Amino acid sequence: MSYHATEAVTLRRWRTQEADALYLLFTECLGKVTAKARGVAKSTSRIAGMLQPHNRTHVILYQKQEDQDILSVTQVSLVRRYPHLQGDLKSLTLAACAAELIDFCTGEGEPNRMIWSLLTKLLDFWEENEATEAQLAAFALRILKETGFEPHLAACAKCGVQERSEWYYSPERGAILCPGCRRTERLALSGGAVSTMARLTSGEKLSALSFGEQDVKDMLLFLDEHIGYHVGRRSRALRVLQQIAVPLNGESEP
Ligand SMILES: [Zn+2]
Repeated sequence: MSYHATEAVTLRRWRTQEADALYLLFTECLGKVTAKARGVAKSTSRIAGMLQPHNRTHVILYQKQEDQDILSVTQVSLVRRYPHLQGDLKSLTLAACAAELIDFCTGEGEPNRMIWSLLTKLLDFWEENEATEAQLAAFALRILKETGFEPHLAACAKCGVQERSEWYYSPERGAILCPGCRRTERLALSGGAVSTMARLTSGEKLSALSFGEQDVKDMLLFLDEHIGYHVGRRSRALRVLQQIAVPLNGESEP
């Protein structure tokens, strides 16, 4: 048996029968882990309050056997909560997208300090600043690169051309095709979306890039397709985000 002391961010929570709850945590020292907390079903539980999604805590996890999948939370103390982020629907949805992405792209018990640092910096930033879809896209591209799901966006995957105002995404290739090379690919992406994502993937800062509203919408559509095909899971939060970003009544045209 062993005890692990580490910082953690709660990615999600499930209720189980009776008074227990299961938490998916991304921890600094162990990577993603599933942990059970006993007796936290009551809304007044202090531990449940501290382990709310997105909160950052210091936890002590107990593992009875080496191969045990579900650890037990034995102690929790709060490092940081995010009241501003958690009180705003858009910020909360963006944070849920980031949490799902980390869940989808990482395996349990695989520590990754880079992802830990990216996640905690993002949450800290979103607590103090307005959270945007473009920041999420930049974060998602870093995570995809870090976990081996990096898309190829620098040039057409068939002919190698680099500058186009319109591209098509090929899920099978995880890459883009120019209009001349496209066959049955249906997801069209703006030149601005592709060049922004290519520059982000190569390490440029978001603040150094310029892009429009349509480019951002295309980036979210692209991420939804690419993650769905290559990681094999569909992000519910990303779908919700797209509905928030594109209001049903639409903004009126002049
Ligand atoms: Zn081409």
